[in-house]
Amino acid sequence: MTTTEIATKLSEVQALEAAHVLQIYRRTPVVFVRGSGSRLYDDEGREFLDLVSGIGVASLGHANPALARALADQAATLAHTSNLYFHPLQGEVARRLAALSGLPRVFFCNSGTEAVEACLKFARRYWHAQGSPRTKIVAFDHAFHGRTAGSLSATWDAHYRDPFAPLVPGVTWVSPKDPVALAAAVTAETAAIIVEPIQGEGGVRPIPLETARTIRELSDQTGALVIADEVQSGLGRTGVPLYSSVLGLKPDLVAVGKALGAGMPAGAALFSQRVADQAAPGDHGTTNGGNLLACRAALVFLEALTEGGLMTHVAETGRHLRARLETLAAKHRAIIEVRGAGLIWGLELDRDATPVIEAAFERRLLVNRTAGTVVRLLPPLIISTADLDEGIARLDEAFAACKLS
Ligand code: PLP
Repeated sequence: MTTTEIATKLSEVQALEAAHVLQIYRRTPVVFVRGSGSRLYDDEGREFLDLVSGIGVASLGHANPALARALADQAATLAHTSNLYFHPLQGEVARRLAALSGLPRVFFCNSGTEAVEACLKFARRYWHAQGSPRTKIVAFDHAFHGRTAGSLSATWDAHYRDPFAPLVPGVTWVSPKDPVALAAAVTAETAAIIVEPIQGEGGVRPIPLETARTIRELSDQTGALVIADEVQSGLGRTGVPLYSSVLGLKPDLVAVGKALGAGMPAGAALFSQRVADQAAPGDHGTTNGGNLLACRAALVFLEALTEGGLMTHVAETGRHLRARLETLAAKHRAIIEVRGAGLIWGLELDRDATPVIEAAFERRLLVNRTAGTVVRLLPPLIISTADLDEGIARLDEAFAACKLS
């Protein structure tokens, strides 16, 4: 494979990273070397049940055989040519994304933050073309839109933003539970309202229906464009193509990522025709975005989602998971709320979630903490009800071991 001997032992991996990798992650001390479906295996061969799926990315599970075959075939044929030339796959992935979303035009990139970045840029581009430039953005408390400068500017938590200030100006945040404040914030100067239909990193918080209705009304009244950040909630995660449709939102711009590449880095910004009409060659671009390898992965994923019955599977297993989580919450009083849809769920605790995450890890179950007090579950979309049941049983034990109930 390589002429260098690659270390897999935890202490060696940690030492090498400590010497050379930028220290920005608080990693759990485990080295995963192999996966299969909803399972991960560490360097000592220990098996873990994975209800995180690489933060919603390994949509088809780990080492999916059809994906592996397609990627091997693509890598052996042609992996990358850049956007200087045509290749056969971008148009087909775009056609499928358009059919799923109802938005006809797609820009391909490599990550969620780039997809959001493109949405923010083309919202401005739209207003620039109208001859009355608008640059103001209205976002929501608890929002997480990514780490590049534009996306970070719209991200709510000041801890993420402050070390990099000044960022892109003109962003206002309002509570998603306060439609009146929202109405006051959106004016004839607002370029766009950006919203995660289910706030993921912010603690798995679905946007209330009334707020969604207000977003729609304000967009109609002021012309402000709606950007739906569906990087975490989109592409089948909730059992429907995009959660915006459940909220009755009609976004002009949608950001997707994570699940799209099923493990290959991929993101996409989807545009209404009126926004896309203002884009001209040279306005935006990326070297790697939409390359053949990423597009091949996206094709395998989108085929599974729409023709392979994956969306229905998520809806069914999601109902099952919801019922199990509600039973769990009834048993453990530290769980004060169960939020989510399909296969994205958060258990809000009345305290820091860290001990539960650690107790779950000791039972070889991967779940993760978000927003401090929330245990988040983002299993692979292909997960079976049997695996979900096993996960809930281990989580139950973890709660019991923490003596929170
Ligand atoms: N938007 C949302 C809603 C996200 O959840 C994330 C990542 O968690 C991002 C954007 C950024 O995506 P990425 O980490 O792929 O850049």
